[in-house]
Amino acid sequence: MNFATRVLHGTSSTDPVTGASSIPIYQASTFHQADLNQPGEYDYARSGNPTRRALEELIAHLEGGTRGFAFASGMAAISSVFLLFSSGDHLIVSEDVYGGTYRVLTEILARLGVQVTFVDTTDPEAVRAAIRPNTRGLYLETPSNPTLKVSDLALLSRLAKERGLLTIVDNTFLTPYYQRPLELGADIVVHSATKFIGGHSDVVAGLVVTGDERIGKQLYAIQNGFGSILGVQDCWLVMRGLKTLKARLDVSSQSAAVIARWLARHPLVERVYYPGLPEHQGHALQARQASGFGAVLSFDLGCRERVKALLEAVRLPLVAVSLGAVETILSYPAQMSHASMPPAERCRRGITDGLLRLSVGLEDVDDLLADLEQALAAASGVKV
Ligand SMILES: *Cc1c(COP(=O)(O)O)cnc(C)c1O
Repeated sequence: MNFATRVLHGTSSTDPVTGASSIPIYQASTFHQADLNQPGEYDYARSGNPTRRALEELIAHLEGGTRGFAFASGMAAISSVFLLFSSGDHLIVSEDVYGGTYRVLTEILARLGVQVTFVDTTDPEAVRAAIRPNTRGLYLETPSNPTLKVSDLALLSRLAKERGLLTIVDNTFLTPYYQRPLELGADIVVHSATKFIGGHSDVVAGLVVTGDERIGKQLYAIQNGFGSILGVQDCWLVMRGLKTLKARLDVSSQSAAVIARWLARHPLVERVYYPGLPEHQGHALQARQASGFGAVLSFDLGCRERVKALLEAVRLPLVAVSLGAVETILSYPAQMSHASMPPAERCRRGITDGLLRLSVGLEDVDDLLADLEQALAAASGVKV
């Protein structure tokens, strides 16, 4: 079965008890035990709930794994995965990783004794050179946020396996529709389901998948022990969002490609980052390891003054943190997603004061282009 069908029928899509067309929201924290000697499948909802279970089985199926876990946010999912590591362990992490991931690593994990080296993971030699005797994990984000750099998942997973490291991939930007890291050799996939998977800017959620039983057991112990589970109402919303994932991504990615090409020709735009552009550094690699280029692109206007003018002039996009929604979202990484990164670190990673990130939604692409055109015209009048 192909993805479009699997997303709807890959696991139980109807209520096994009544046949209802959607998995019910089991709004219950505990479950009656009819026989003390034969406990039921569920006992307490932190440990398991049928609504959450349905979402966890579905995401595991879509990513090609065996165990799925739903968390209260993408950061809860990512932080729970980091709890697999112990004081004295060392991790290698993509240098332009999501700002919140950078923060949890440098401010919390560091205090707990987990060491981190940030590396340009588009360069396998740099990854190899960063491996120490105590390195235990390789954490990748591809394409990265917000400069859309592409790292080679198969090659890096192989390198990690040779050295006994766990490979963890943040697959938020592409989702299992376009990219399945476990099939390329990764051990764990993490998601902010707040983004494309939920898809409607109405729920905060995180997901983790593995295909390894031993890691699955460890992750379950962390999920149940640490307890940052996703509530059942939000599980239901994420499943509702997943049903249209393919249809949404098809439209948004097609529009993103059109907008990226248009921006690349605009005189005010100094640089466009979109893996779908043939001139993008990671274009060929992404075409090989993923089946699409996604709906997120970034572009650089050169300075903060023009950014400010454009953000004040645009009418359609939501000017906001976040991405991956039905509506187009325009964000300013320097002051939003990457505000927690020191300015020098930010600029070294290309996250300049002129950089904007556009997550393309489902609006008519001609309307989006017309809006960007008038906003860029407004920005071009700014004295810099
Ligand atoms: C948003 C995001 C996160 C964090 O997810 P939350 O749901 O906001 O906690 C992690 N990684 C990436 C790539 C993201 O875009």
